[in-house]
Amino acid sequence: MGKSFAVIGDPIDHSLSPNIHSAAFRELNLDSSYIAYRIPVGELAEGIEGLKKIKIDGFNITIPHKVEMMKYLDKIDESCSLIGAVNTVKNMDGVLKGYNTDMDGFLDPLKKRSITIANKKVLLLGAGGAARAIVAGFAKEKAKSITIANRTLENAEKLSEFAKKIGLDSNPIKIEDVGDSAKDYDFIINATSIGLKNELSPISLKGINEKTIVYDIVYMPMNTDFIKKAKEEGATVIYGYEMLLGQAVRAFEIWHGIEAPYNAMKKALLGGV
Ligand code: NDP
Repeated sequence: MGKSFAVIGDPIDHSLSPNIHSAAFRELNLDSSYIAYRIPVGELAEGIEGLKKIKIDGFNITIPHKVEMMKYLDKIDESCSLIGAVNTVKNMDGVLKGYNTDMDGFLDPLKKRSITIANKKVLLLGAGGAARAIVAGFAKEKAKSITIANRTLENAEKLSEFAKKIGLDSNPIKIEDVGDSAKDYDFIINATSIGLKNELSPISLKGINEKTIVYDIVYMPMNTDFIKKAKEEGATVIYGYEMLLGQAVRAFEIWHGIEAPYNAMKKALLGGV
Protein backbone atom coordinates (compact mmCIF):
# COMPACT_ATOMS: atom_id res chain seq x y z
CA MET A 1 0.00 0.00 0.00
CA GLY A 2 1.19 3.54 -0.74
CA LYS A 3 2.45 5.71 2.08
CA SER A 4 0.89 9.00 3.07
CA PHE A 5 2.41 12.12 4.59
CA ALA A 6 1.24 15.62 5.52
CA VAL A 7 2.24 19.00 6.85
CA ILE A 8 0.00 20.48 9.54
CA GLY A 9 -0.27 24.11 10.61
CA ASP A 10 -2.33 27.24 10.19
CA PRO A 11 -2.05 29.01 7.78
CA ILE A 12 -0.89 26.15 5.57
CA ASP A 13 -1.99 26.79 1.97
CA HIS A 14 1.29 28.48 1.01
CA SER A 15 3.44 25.66 2.38
CA LEU A 16 6.15 24.53 -0.03
CA SER A 17 6.57 21.14 1.66
CA PRO A 18 4.01 19.26 -0.51
CA ASN A 19 5.92 20.33 -3.65
CA ILE A 20 9.32 19.39 -2.25
CA HIS A 21 8.28 15.93 -1.01
CA SER A 22 6.12 15.12 -4.05
CA ALA A 23 9.10 15.88 -6.30
CA ALA A 24 11.16 13.40 -4.30
CA PHE A 25 8.46 10.70 -4.65
CA ARG A 26 8.34 11.26 -8.42
CA GLU A 27 12.11 11.19 -8.76
CA LEU A 28 12.39 7.86 -6.90
CA ASN A 29 9.11 6.37 -8.17
CA LEU A 30 7.76 6.00 -4.65
CA ASP A 31 4.07 5.21 -4.24
CA SER A 32 3.58 7.99 -1.66
CA SER A 33 1.54 11.14 -1.30
CA TYR A 34 1.98 14.34 0.75
CA ILE A 35 -0.75 16.85 1.54
CA ALA A 36 -1.13 20.15 3.42
CA TYR A 37 -3.68 19.84 6.24
CA ARG A 38 -4.92 22.93 8.08
CA ILE A 39 -5.36 22.43 11.83
CA PRO A 40 -6.36 25.63 13.65
CA VAL A 41 -5.11 26.54 17.14
CA GLY A 42 -7.09 24.58 19.77
CA GLU A 43 -7.90 21.69 17.43
CA LEU A 44 -4.60 19.84 17.51
CA ALA A 45 -5.83 16.85 19.57
CA GLU A 46 -8.69 16.10 17.14
CA GLY A 47 -6.41 16.73 14.18
CA ILE A 48 -3.86 14.19 15.42
CA GLU A 49 -6.61 11.62 16.08
CA GLY A 50 -7.75 12.06 12.48
CA LEU A 51 -4.24 11.55 11.15
CA LYS A 52 -3.83 8.38 13.23
CA LYS A 53 -7.17 7.06 11.96
CA ILE A 54 -6.08 7.33 8.34
CA LYS A 55 -2.78 5.68 9.36
CA ILE A 56 -0.64 8.58 8.21
CA ASP A 57 3.00 7.42 7.95
CA GLY A 58 4.51 10.74 8.96
CA PHE A 59 3.94 14.46 9.10
CA ASN A 60 5.66 17.81 9.44
CA ILE A 61 4.49 20.42 11.92
CA THR A 62 4.69 24.16 11.39
CA ILE A 63 3.40 27.35 13.05
CA PRO A 64 1.56 27.38 15.48
CA HIS A 65 1.85 23.73 16.67
CA LYS A 66 5.59 23.03 16.96
CA VAL A 67 5.67 23.27 20.77
CA GLU A 68 2.17 21.99 21.64
CA MET A 69 2.72 18.88 19.48
CA MET A 70 5.31 17.68 22.03
CA LYS A 71 2.38 16.61 24.29
CA TYR A 72 1.11 14.10 21.74
CA LEU A 73 4.36 12.24 21.18
CA ASP A 74 4.99 8.71 22.47
CA LYS A 75 8.72 8.88 21.78
CA ILE A 76 11.01 11.89 21.57
CA ASP A 77 14.27 12.05 19.65
CA GLU A 78 17.18 13.89 21.29
CA SER A 79 17.04 16.71 18.69
CA CYS A 80 13.48 17.32 19.73
CA SER A 81 13.92 17.26 23.51
CA LEU A 82 16.91 19.61 23.27
CA ILE A 83 15.04 22.21 21.23
CA GLY A 84 11.69 21.70 22.98
CA ALA A 85 9.78 21.74 19.70
CA VAL A 86 8.90 19.16 17.06
CA ASN A 87 8.70 19.61 13.29
CA THR A 88 8.73 15.99 12.09
CA VAL A 89 6.75 12.97 13.31
CA LYS A 90 7.10 9.34 12.29
CA ASN A 91 4.09 7.11 12.91
CA MET A 92 5.08 3.53 13.74
CA ASP A 93 1.81 1.54 14.04
CA GLY A 94 0.18 4.23 16.16
CA VAL A 95 3.34 5.10 18.11
CA LEU A 96 4.31 8.70 17.30
CA LYS A 97 8.01 9.59 17.43
CA GLY A 98 9.01 13.26 17.24
CA TYR A 99 12.13 14.79 15.72
CA ASN A 100 13.34 18.31 15.11
CA THR A 101 15.10 18.61 11.74
CA ASP A 102 15.42 22.43 11.83
CA MET A 103 18.85 22.29 13.49
CA ASP A 104 20.33 19.85 10.96
CA GLY A 105 18.49 21.70 8.19
CA PHE A 106 20.12 24.95 9.27
CA LEU A 107 23.61 23.40 9.45
CA ASP A 108 23.32 21.53 6.14
CA PRO A 109 24.19 24.44 3.78
CA LEU A 110 27.18 25.35 5.97
CA LYS A 111 28.44 21.76 5.83
CA LYS A 112 27.89 21.61 2.07
CA ARG A 113 30.22 24.63 1.74
CA SER A 114 32.72 23.15 4.26
CA ILE A 115 32.43 26.26 6.43
CA THR A 116 34.02 25.91 9.88
CA ILE A 117 31.92 27.02 12.84
CA ALA A 118 34.23 26.04 15.70
CA ASN A 119 35.61 29.07 17.55
CA LYS A 120 33.69 31.60 15.43
CA LYS A 121 31.67 34.60 16.62
CA VAL A 122 27.98 34.67 15.79
CA LEU A 123 25.40 37.47 15.68
CA LEU A 124 21.89 36.00 15.70
CA LEU A 125 18.93 38.27 14.97
CA GLY A 126 15.71 36.91 16.49
CA ALA A 127 14.81 34.79 19.49
CA GLY A 128 11.79 32.73 18.38
CA GLY A 129 11.40 29.00 17.68
CA ALA A 130 13.73 28.89 14.69
CA ALA A 131 16.38 30.90 16.56
CA ARG A 132 16.33 28.28 19.30
CA ALA A 133 17.14 25.47 16.83
CA ILE A 134 19.94 27.67 15.43
CA VAL A 135 21.41 28.25 18.91
CA ALA A 136 21.41 24.46 19.43
CA GLY A 137 23.23 24.07 16.10
CA PHE A 138 25.97 26.57 16.97
CA ALA A 139 26.38 24.97 20.40
CA LYS A 140 26.73 21.54 18.81
CA GLU A 141 29.37 22.85 16.40
CA LYS A 142 31.24 24.62 19.21
CA ALA A 143 31.05 28.25 18.09
CA LYS A 144 33.02 30.64 20.31
CA SER A 145 30.10 32.89 21.28
CA ILE A 146 26.68 34.06 20.17
CA THR A 147 25.16 37.52 20.54
CA ILE A 148 21.36 37.31 20.42
CA ALA A 149 19.76 40.55 19.19
CA ASN A 150 16.00 40.79 19.39
CA ARG A 151 13.16 43.33 19.36
CA THR A 152 11.96 42.09 22.76
CA LEU A 153 14.99 41.95 25.04
CA GLU A 154 13.31 39.53 27.44
CA ASN A 155 13.04 36.87 24.71
CA ALA A 156 16.72 37.37 23.83
CA GLU A 157 17.59 36.95 27.52
CA LYS A 158 15.67 33.67 27.75
CA LEU A 159 17.32 32.28 24.65
CA SER A 160 20.70 33.42 25.89
CA GLU A 161 20.15 31.46 29.12
CA PHE A 162 19.37 28.40 27.02
CA ALA A 163 22.59 28.90 25.01
CA LYS A 164 24.67 29.07 28.18
CA LYS A 165 22.95 26.00 29.60
CA ILE A 166 24.02 23.97 26.59
CA GLY A 167 27.58 25.30 26.73
CA LEU A 168 27.60 28.27 24.34
CA ASP A 169 28.86 31.64 25.59
CA SER A 170 26.10 34.14 24.90
CA ASN A 171 24.85 37.68 25.49
CA PRO A 172 21.44 39.24 24.77
CA ILE A 173 20.97 42.72 23.29
CA LYS A 174 18.20 44.76 21.74
CA ILE A 175 18.24 44.63 17.95
CA GLU A 176 18.59 48.42 17.61
CA ASP A 177 21.75 48.26 19.72
CA VAL A 178 23.59 46.24 17.05
CA GLY A 179 24.58 49.61 15.56
CA ASP A 180 27.68 49.26 13.38
CA SER A 181 29.01 46.13 15.14
CA ALA A 182 28.14 43.67 12.32
CA LYS A 183 31.77 43.76 11.15
CA ASP A 184 32.89 42.21 14.47
CA TYR A 185 31.24 38.84 13.69
CA ASP A 186 32.08 35.83 11.50
CA PHE A 187 28.44 34.77 11.08
CA ILE A 188 25.34 36.98 10.91
CA ILE A 189 22.00 35.18 10.85
CA ASN A 190 18.54 36.64 10.35
CA ALA A 191 16.03 34.44 12.21
CA THR A 192 13.39 37.15 12.62
CA SER A 193 10.46 37.25 10.22
CA ILE A 194 11.72 40.60 8.86
CA GLY A 195 11.97 40.33 5.07
CA LEU A 196 8.85 38.22 4.55
CA LYS A 197 6.98 41.39 3.62
CA ASN A 198 9.93 42.96 1.79
CA GLU A 199 11.01 45.01 4.80
CA LEU A 200 14.46 46.61 4.85
CA SER A 201 17.34 44.76 6.54
CA PRO A 202 16.89 44.94 10.34
CA ILE A 203 20.55 45.97 10.85
CA SER A 204 23.36 47.75 9.01
CA LEU A 205 25.89 45.38 7.40
CA LYS A 206 28.48 48.08 6.74
CA GLY A 207 32.07 46.97 7.03
CA ILE A 208 31.55 43.20 6.69
CA ASN A 209 33.67 41.46 4.04
CA GLU A 210 34.04 38.35 1.90
CA LYS A 211 34.91 36.28 4.96
CA THR A 212 31.61 37.11 6.67
CA ILE A 213 28.88 34.47 6.35
CA VAL A 214 25.45 36.09 6.07
CA TYR A 215 22.53 33.67 6.33
CA ASP A 216 18.88 34.69 6.04
CA ILE A 217 16.40 31.99 7.06
CA VAL A 218 13.48 33.89 5.49
CA TYR A 219 12.97 31.99 2.20
CA MET A 220 10.23 34.02 0.55
CA PRO A 221 11.27 36.27 -1.11
CA MET A 222 14.62 34.65 -1.85
CA ASN A 223 16.52 37.93 -2.27
CA THR A 224 15.58 39.85 0.86
CA ASP A 225 17.03 43.31 1.45
CA PHE A 226 19.27 41.72 4.13
CA ILE A 227 20.71 39.33 1.48
CA LYS A 228 21.07 42.15 -1.08
CA LYS A 229 22.99 44.35 1.37
CA ALA A 230 25.25 41.42 2.28
CA LYS A 231 26.03 40.85 -1.40
CA GLU A 232 26.84 44.55 -1.84
CA GLU A 233 29.50 44.16 0.86
CA GLY A 234 30.87 41.03 -0.90
CA ALA A 235 29.92 38.61 1.89
CA THR A 236 29.23 34.89 1.44
CA VAL A 237 25.43 34.54 1.46
CA ILE A 238 23.24 31.57 2.34
CA TYR A 239 19.56 31.58 1.43
CA GLY A 240 16.57 30.56 3.54
CA TYR A 241 15.47 28.03 0.92
CA GLU A 242 18.65 26.07 1.64
CA MET A 243 17.59 25.54 5.27
CA LEU A 244 14.07 24.64 4.13
CA LEU A 245 15.54 22.02 1.80
CA GLY A 246 17.92 20.78 4.49
CA GLN A 247 15.12 20.12 6.97
CA ALA A 248 12.97 18.45 4.28
CA VAL A 249 15.84 16.18 3.21
CA ARG A 250 16.39 15.09 6.83
CA ALA A 251 12.63 14.46 7.34
CA PHE A 252 12.55 12.43 4.11
CA GLU A 253 15.42 10.27 5.33
CA ILE A 254 13.77 9.69 8.74
CA TRP A 255 10.55 8.52 7.05
CA HIS A 256 11.91 6.54 4.12
CA GLY A 257 15.29 5.35 5.40
CA ILE A 258 16.95 6.11 2.06
CA GLU A 259 18.97 9.04 0.74
CA ALA A 260 16.78 11.95 -0.38
CA PRO A 261 17.08 13.17 -3.99
CA TYR A 262 18.43 16.63 -3.09
CA ASN A 263 18.63 18.03 -6.61
CA ALA A 264 15.08 17.03 -7.56
CA MET A 265 13.78 18.58 -4.35
CA LYS A 266 15.77 21.75 -4.96
CA LYS A 267 14.47 22.00 -8.51
CA ALA A 268 10.87 21.74 -7.27
CA LEU A 269 11.48 24.48 -4.74
CA LEU A 270 13.13 26.90 -7.14
CA GLY A 271 10.43 26.38 -9.76
CA GLY A 272 12.64 24.68 -12.29
CA VAL A 273 10.35 21.68 -12.95
P1 NDP B 1 8.62 33.10 15.85
O1 NDP B 1 7.28 33.73 15.76
O2 NDP B 1 8.88 32.06 16.86
O3 NDP B 1 9.73 34.28 16.07
C1 NDP B 1 9.69 35.48 15.33
C2 NDP B 1 10.94 36.32 15.61
O4 NDP B 1 10.92 37.47 14.76
C3 NDP B 1 11.02 36.87 17.04
O5 NDP B 1 12.36 37.00 17.42
C4 NDP B 1 10.35 38.24 16.90
O6 NDP B 1 10.76 39.18 17.87
C5 NDP B 1 10.89 38.67 15.54
N1 NDP B 1 10.05 39.65 14.87
C6 NDP B 1 8.84 39.45 14.30
N2 NDP B 1 8.38 40.59 13.74
C7 NDP B 1 9.32 41.53 13.97
C8 NDP B 1 9.42 42.93 13.66
N3 NDP B 1 8.46 43.56 12.97
N4 NDP B 1 10.53 43.60 14.05
C9 NDP B 1 11.51 42.97 14.73
N5 NDP B 1 11.47 41.64 15.07
C10 NDP B 1 10.39 40.95 14.69
O7 NDP B 1 8.92 32.56 14.37
P2 NDP B 1 9.97 31.43 13.92
O8 NDP B 1 11.18 31.51 14.76
O9 NDP B 1 9.28 30.14 13.80
O10 NDP B 1 10.29 31.91 12.42
C11 NDP B 1 11.00 33.10 12.14
C12 NDP B 1 11.21 33.25 10.64
O11 NDP B 1 12.01 32.20 10.13
C13 NDP B 1 9.91 33.20 9.81
O12 NDP B 1 9.99 34.17 8.81
C14 NDP B 1 9.92 31.83 9.18
O13 NDP B 1 9.29 31.81 7.91
C15 NDP B 1 11.40 31.56 9.03
N6 NDP B 1 11.71 30.12 9.10
C16 NDP B 1 12.42 29.57 8.06
C17 NDP B 1 12.76 28.25 8.09
C18 NDP B 1 13.51 27.67 6.94
O14 NDP B 1 13.57 26.44 6.82
N7 NDP B 1 14.14 28.48 6.09
C19 NDP B 1 12.39 27.37 9.21
C20 NDP B 1 11.65 28.06 10.28
C21 NDP B 1 11.34 29.39 10.20
P3 NDP B 1 9.99 39.33 19.30
O15 NDP B 1 10.59 38.29 20.22
O16 NDP B 1 10.26 40.70 19.70
O17 NDP B 1 8.52 39.07 19.01
